[in-house]
Amino acid sequence: MNELSTTSQTTPRRVTILGSTGSIGTQALDVIRSHPDRFELVGLSASNNAEMLEKQAKEFSPEFVALENGDAKNGGSDSLRNLDAEAFVGSGSASELAKAPTDVVLNGVVGFAGLAATVSALEAGNRVALANKESIVAGGGWVMSLAKDNPIIPVDSEHSAIFQCIEGRDSSEISGILLTASGGPFFGTEKGKLADAGPEDALAHPTWSMGVKNTLDSATMMNKGLEVIEAHHLFGVPFDDIKVVVHRQSVVHGGVMFEDGATILHASTPSMKLPISYGMLYPERVDVSVGATPFDGVSWTFDEPRNDVFRCLPLAYEAGRLGGAYPVVLNAANEVAVEAFLEGGIKFLAVADLIEKTLEAAPDFGAMEDMEATTAADSWARKEAKRKVKEVQ
Ligand code: MG
Repeated sequence: MNELSTTSQTTPRRVTILGSTGSIGTQALDVIRSHPDRFELVGLSASNNAEMLEKQAKEFSPEFVALENGDAKNGGSDSLRNLDAEAFVGSGSASELAKAPTDVVLNGVVGFAGLAATVSALEAGNRVALANKESIVAGGGWVMSLAKDNPIIPVDSEHSAIFQCIEGRDSSEISGILLTASGGPFFGTEKGKLADAGPEDALAHPTWSMGVKNTLDSATMMNKGLEVIEAHHLFGVPFDDIKVVVHRQSVVHGGVMFEDGATILHASTPSMKLPISYGMLYPERVDVSVGATPFDGVSWTFDEPRNDVFRCLPLAYEAGRLGGAYPVVLNAANEVAVEAFLEGGIKFLAVADLIEKTLEAAPDFGAMEDMEATTAADSWARKEAKRKVKEVQ
């Protein structure tokens, strides 16, 4: 048992929130707002939104604030420096904040940008509650080795579910992992009709309330692809033993299959407040007002993913199996593709084409064992993917 798990419930949990103005961050602050006696806010960081960060800091009085892209233009430096908190402003601020002594760093940064802060928090000995799946996809075995003595608490809803099902079991008993996917807004749509799907269609998620990046990744199934790689590293399970099923109701979030044929599933009303509060308070639970899991007159369905249409999922399995820089390249190309799609630069089905072409062009980058090598592969892939946008239009 580590120190935190025996801490009395009356001791507030000291929390640092990275990405406090985003979807994860604002929901985390909602949880803290409804349980003020359970938390003490150490720090808040945002990417660009100085105004909202300032408002949050005035309400929650953290010791530190950080604005990653703060400059005179967005008023970042001035308004934050007038607060009753120490301010970090500019590139690397979130990583700086992540080092400040705290019980848990909730990383809700979007995309590859979250990796540096995860590494920084782990190196400083801080526990990480991780909503930034890209940290594990790109950081892989290297990041997991930094978390050897200080396990990461997953906040991705599926991985939080699996983490809860797996706890206390010996790895030799585990025969597989079940990852559920909602299927996004297009699961039943004919391939022909997807050709002209625009951003508004792709962002209309049927069951989850998430940020733009995750919602779009959910429509392409890349979200599940990244989560397969994330699960492989977090739980040490081979890719062949990770099964993805489409579960339209989004009530069963994941499960663990055992040697004897039993599967333990985790179910709840779909709300990110559950994995967020569990990640911040682990191993304790609080009521986050999402209600009990519905059982009266409901049906649960499980379907095979349509890998011929939504090709991002098989591409992610392939990149994950190849290892090395391939998951880094997959992730970077996806971030470029998502942006290009949102700006109208490529069609919905070309997202997978762009990622595939970038993976095919990747040279051997060697092992990904530090920030420098990982950043080099990421930068190469971004440039290459941007160059190939014209080829897939
Ligand atoms: Mg998820």
